[in-house]
Amino acid sequence: MKEHWTLILTNPNDANKSKFENGDFHSVYLDLAVKRLGNICGEKFNTAALENFKALSEHRNQLVHFAHTDFVGNNEGVVIEHWASWYYLHNLLTQQWRSYFEGYEDQFEQLQEKVTKNMGYLNAKFEALKPQIEIECKKGNEISECPSCKLESALITKVYHWGHDIECLVCDVKKLKLKDIHTEIECYSCKKNMAYFMLTDEFCPHCSEEITPEYALEQYKKLYEKEDPECLVEDGRDYIAYCHTCDDKEPSVVNVDGLWVCVYCEDRGWTAISCDNCDSFVTGDVQRIEVFACHRCEDEVRESMLAGL
Ligand SMILES: [Zn+2]
Ligand SMILES: [Zn+2]
Ligand SMILES: [Zn+2]
Ligand SMILES: [Zn+2]
Repeated sequence: MKEHWTLILTNPNDANKSKFENGDFHSVYLDLAVKRLGNICGEKFNTAALENFKALSEHRNQLVHFAHTDFVGNNEGVVIEHWASWYYLHNLLTQQWRSYFEGYEDQFEQLQEKVTKNMGYLNAKFEALKPQIEIECKKGNEISECPSCKLESALITKVYHWGHDIECLVCDVKKLKLKDIHTEIECYSCKKNMAYFMLTDEFCPHCSEEITPEYALEQYKKLYEKEDPECLVEDGRDYIAYCHTCDDKEPSVVNVDGLWVCVYCEDRGWTAISCDNCDSFVTGDVQRIEVFACHRCEDEVRESMLAGL
């Protein structure tokens, strides 16, 4: 809708503005919506979230068509699927798509409270699962706090340099939990320190002044200079890299807590190297940059390769 109103129609070729304004149109289905959001708007999704949305829509269809399904009468199953769906959706609405949904925070908060009322079902499942969780621990597997239901029931399924994959045994939420970054910067207003990457919103936890990513980047640059007054941060080289994830025109990836992390999109864990071809200091897949090109020069390289054919 934000990109172009016809994109929410099943078939944009049949678009008719007055019919659209009267609500007389077929809107796009989940699969196609995901495809368009990815290909046209460059949105990325958590695979587990998409699987959950698909399952939810199938179950919803079964229910409205009165089909016999295992789902009917299984309150716990319904609540838990619903819980995970809301968790993923809430994340999209309040984080990834935050700027598009400004002004709806209160409604989201009300829904959040409603869903939280179902916590009893999750606690009951947690109690029932305790023996299984103990077995996982005995097997040497690590259990951590689930970012969604907050119970100590998230099984760590894979560990990376920049975080780990978790799968909650209670609420079924699966996600990548990024490694915490604790390096602090100073607030321009109250002069107190804050761990910028640990903030859940863009406001100083002490004085509530807005902390923009641009300001944070400036501060992280200053930390480099503090550590090594000789370093020429202005020149950018080897200190601040261009981010291949958000593709910002300015370099925005700094090295803190031993990780390369983009101050703008907060993607982390990539290696930053200089591209042999265009000389930019960039993040991305090292092998791809070495044998082909970086995200900044790949179009050019592809074109010249095609021209040479
Ligand atoms: Zn959970
Ligand atoms: Zn402050
Ligand atoms: Zn980025
Ligand atoms: Zn390049």
